[in-house]
Amino acid sequence: MYKIPEDGEKIQFKDGKWITPNKPIILYIEGDGIGPEIVKSTIDVINKAVELKYKDNREIKWVEVLAGNKAAQLVGDRFPKDTQDMLKEYRVVLKGPMETPIGKGWKSVNVAIRIMLDLYANIRPVKYIEGLESPIKNPERVNMIIFRENTDDLYRGIEYPYNSPEAEKIRKFIREELKVDVEDDTGIGFKIISKFKTQRITRMAIKYALQNSRKRITIMHKGNVMKYTEGAFREWAYETAINEFRDFIVTEEEVTTKYGGKIPDGKILINDRIADNMFQQIITRPEDYDIILAPNVNGDYISDAAGALIGNIGMLGGANVGDDAGMFEAVHGTAPKYAGKNVANPTGMIRGGELMLRFMGWVEAADLIDKAIVEAIKQKKVTQDLARYMNVKPLSTTEYTQELLNIM
Ligand code: NAD
Repeated sequence: MYKIPEDGEKIQFKDGKWITPNKPIILYIEGDGIGPEIVKSTIDVINKAVELKYKDNREIKWVEVLAGNKAAQLVGDRFPKDTQDMLKEYRVVLKGPMETPIGKGWKSVNVAIRIMLDLYANIRPVKYIEGLESPIKNPERVNMIIFRENTDDLYRGIEYPYNSPEAEKIRKFIREELKVDVEDDTGIGFKIISKFKTQRITRMAIKYALQNSRKRITIMHKGNVMKYTEGAFREWAYETAINEFRDFIVTEEEVTTKYGGKIPDGKILINDRIADNMFQQIITRPEDYDIILAPNVNGDYISDAAGALIGNIGMLGGANVGDDAGMFEAVHGTAPKYAGKNVANPTGMIRGGELMLRFMGWVEAADLIDKAIVEAIKQKKVTQDLARYMNVKPLSTTEYTQELLNIM
């Protein structure tokens, strides 16, 4: 079904490292709602940055693959086997947001891709840009990166409606074997948190912190209540940090007892906070948070809250990466009310693309995109979601994209 560009090559992976050829084949999925508009804008911006920085030496060979509503309409399947095969083969994809209905209907294609390619880390940088309207005082204090475990927890989707035979069987087991009473009208979902998966995301977060000179990693959990899942996440994360990175990390207790309250140079502080407290912490003391290491659900929730600190989630991009694949996207969803109107803010999606370039090692092009976004905001050239708070005339999606291209 898909045509592969003859002069393109696959991105390869070795020991978790990306090996990017000069003409890499990269897949893209348009997505639903505002997806097609913001993905187009992102590809235009990436292509221009690559052309400006590397002239004729480098070029991305894009291949569209079908998923979501477009796939359902064209081939009668939301996540066609051909698309799955392409993703397994080429392993890097830029993906527009995709619709998932609440409480019924199909399962999330986003989650299916994350699981299929074992994209276990969801990395979301949240950094204030001067000129954005923020609900907090001194928003320049916001500069954090969320490392969300991406394949475990309640989002594994092991859940059953209250009136299903599976739920009935599980209730019976709970009553008879575990001697705990559960009501007959109880829907059931499983919270699954594994040691192996906690260890690998912790390793990735610490390595990232070391490579990018970040100073703190905070484990976000509700381990006081969910002791053997989120409590275990906390324990395994500390264990990994202490057993495998002892020379590079310090705990909060060590900072107080040994280092007079200051993180020693060259070390990373590992601490933890209870999940509900984190929501007020990032609002009242954002400067204390640098990397937030969270199980899947907490990481999802805190991302939107963090996004609000710097304006809105239309500005945030995310990387979903594993040891040998990556999917890059906006943090937000399909924004259906704006679909097809040429008004959506493509910045979150573009940020996703920028992250992709960083993982590819094409840092100069990524930096150019970052600079253009910062400059556009400074000049108050923004789409309607931001313009209404900045008292300026809004640009359409395509006008804003053109501004970025001009600035570059
Ligand atoms: P949403 O992120 O689509 O929208 C939340 C709010 O932010 C809305 O008011 C929306 O209009 C606004 N918004 C979001 N992105 C914007 C942008 N780029 N420009 C301007 N305004 C923007 O979240 P939702 O309404 O909860 O979900 C809608 C659909 O998106 C659902 O089907 C959901 O499953 C899906 N979704 C997909 C992803 C993904 O593909 N990774 C992520 C989140 C939600």
